[in-house]
Amino acid sequence: MGEWRKKIREVTPYVPGEQPQFADMIKLNTNENPYPPAPGVAKVLAGMDAGKLKLYPKPDARELVDALAAEYRVAPEQIFVGVGSDDVLGMAFLTCFTGEKEILFPDITYSFYPVWAELFGIRYRTPALDENFLIRKEDYFVPNGGIVIANPNAPTSIAMPLADIEEIVEKNQDSVVIIDEAYVDFGGESALPLVEKYDNLLVVQTFSKSRSMAGMRIGFAIGSRELIGAMYAVRNSYNSYTMNYPSILCGVEAVKDRAYFEQTKAAIVTTREKTADRLCELGFTVLPSAANFLFVSHKRISAEELFGKLREKHIFVRFFKKPRIQNYLRVTVGTPEEMERFLKEIEACLADMP
Ligand code: PMP
Repeated sequence: MGEWRKKIREVTPYVPGEQPQFADMIKLNTNENPYPPAPGVAKVLAGMDAGKLKLYPKPDARELVDALAAEYRVAPEQIFVGVGSDDVLGMAFLTCFTGEKEILFPDITYSFYPVWAELFGIRYRTPALDENFLIRKEDYFVPNGGIVIANPNAPTSIAMPLADIEEIVEKNQDSVVIIDEAYVDFGGESALPLVEKYDNLLVVQTFSKSRSMAGMRIGFAIGSRELIGAMYAVRNSYNSYTMNYPSILCGVEAVKDRAYFEQTKAAIVTTREKTADRLCELGFTVLPSAANFLFVSHKRISAEELFGKLREKHIFVRFFKKPRIQNYLRVTVGTPEEMERFLKEIEACLADMP
């Protein structure tokens, strides 16, 4: 009796940031964009014909893929789309990492990577970031089963120069190298121009951050036709209809509005820099951010304590109780007004904690 328990798969899942619901809250804990999506997205949603939902969506999400191909000047066959970049990355792990050798990713990075590796039975090793939280490129010049680098890295916010990324790709042409560019639009250098040169490179991006559409769930990868074709073969062996009808239509609108994209991105970068300066004045160490968040540590007050105090005031930031980073907080960049209140509360907390 109950023997089924021994037969089911046991995994330790990824734990996403909490989604609290308070009217007065300032939510700076999951790196969402504080601005709404491009205005065209709201128009599409308002005019949407629910009757269309009785049909399956196009399995190749044609309109969305074509819009991305035009925007990034690649062939449609070089684009894979998925349900957020988590879906795209998961499919990339499943497709690209099947060898005996360990795959490599940094010890401090997006904490979903080890979860996919465990789920799919992929062996992995995690070279340590250096004492300044930088990726040591030399750690990746060794035999491996594949490489994953988030650039800019999370939660550190630090970007790696494109020349270093290229060196890693160039020295690893017998492995697939995945560059996770979830935050690249806020200041990193994209590896997209390298896709034509290296057929082992897969660049993954998302609509969740710079296009303000975390709730719609759209991610994409760009790579060689061969690599993208292999990913679709795996996806179509699992679920052919990942992209729903509303997300295809809304995604197209978001890609088309380049002016809005540039404007909201610039606003976040300006707010990020102002917030970083103020935090430095208040005694924080702020890592150099190329993302839409700051990774900060206070000289005097512990991150866990500050996290708790801010939480009581309904200001939510992210705290990772993990070796090396347990005295850091990850703070998403919100609107100027939100950051103003955040800084006021921080000042009050510091005054309260002698
Ligand atoms: N990569 C990194 C580095 C991230 O921080 C996130 C956000 N949690 C993702 C990928 C996945 O984002 P999404 O699935 O919303 O595209």
